[in-house]
Amino acid sequence: MAAPRSPRTPQRPLIAGNWKMNTTRAEAQHLAGLAVQTAKDVPAAEVVVFPPYVWLEAVAEVLRFAPGSVALGGQACHAEPKGAHTGAVSARMLAEVGCSYVLAGHSEVRREWAQDDAKVRASVAAALAARLEVLLCVGEDAAERAAGRAREVVVRQVDAAVADQPGIRDRIQVAYEPVWAIGTGQNATPEQAAEAHGWIRERLDAAGARRARILYGGSVSPANIRGFLAQPAVDGVLVGGQSLDAAAFASVVRAALARGTAS
Ligand code: PEP
Repeated sequence: MAAPRSPRTPQRPLIAGNWKMNTTRAEAQHLAGLAVQTAKDVPAAEVVVFPPYVWLEAVAEVLRFAPGSVALGGQACHAEPKGAHTGAVSARMLAEVGCSYVLAGHSEVRREWAQDDAKVRASVAAALAARLEVLLCVGEDAAERAAGRAREVVVRQVDAAVADQPGIRDRIQVAYEPVWAIGTGQNATPEQAAEAHGWIRERLDAAGARRARILYGGSVSPANIRGFLAQPAVDGVLVGGQSLDAAAFASVVRAALARGTAS
């Protein structure tokens, strides 16, 4: 019989803002400045923003004045370190411009750039090689959920990206982002999120990544954030649309104050 697992230490919640293909340069710097102010008031949370590539340098300039308050991330990276890949950026480029995080396998990238599980895995490997922290996105679409295949899809996506991946242990976080909840205003319930996080946790444990945080993403807003953070299985959130509204994002970050955390 397997030995019972020791309970996990609650982790510092990670609140991430994915700006997608939005903002002017000035708006990006403004949002970053406000995120810094909020993050300083909420040391209980770790905050990371994912601006468009072209504004990374400009946002890094703002973040430089408040080291450690808000981390910077790229929205994706190519699997190769350099070469004939028009339109792509490498993990090393992201690291050089000041990123410590990168998203991998966001559903919009999987769909619009025809990224299959193998390509997501390769981009995770490239990110780890560049010493970036990976925020891997996984989640089923509406048809897969309706067909009762949500668990199968989520487990397949996690395994494909993390199983036997050298260096994964300490530098992977996962966001459960059901595709049907992204940008639709129709969030998963906190209970649905907690169930999916349980599936993901099992696979991360099997891969030796016990310290990985598991975030929920999909129409998170000030109105529903408390329900998600009340779930012990939810270690943070990945916010899209509402991260472009400084007041809404601040309110999501502040919700972490209500959650007692270690470290
Ligand atoms: C996302 O793009 O990762 C996301 C969760 O978007 P939204 O919050 O807008 O649903």
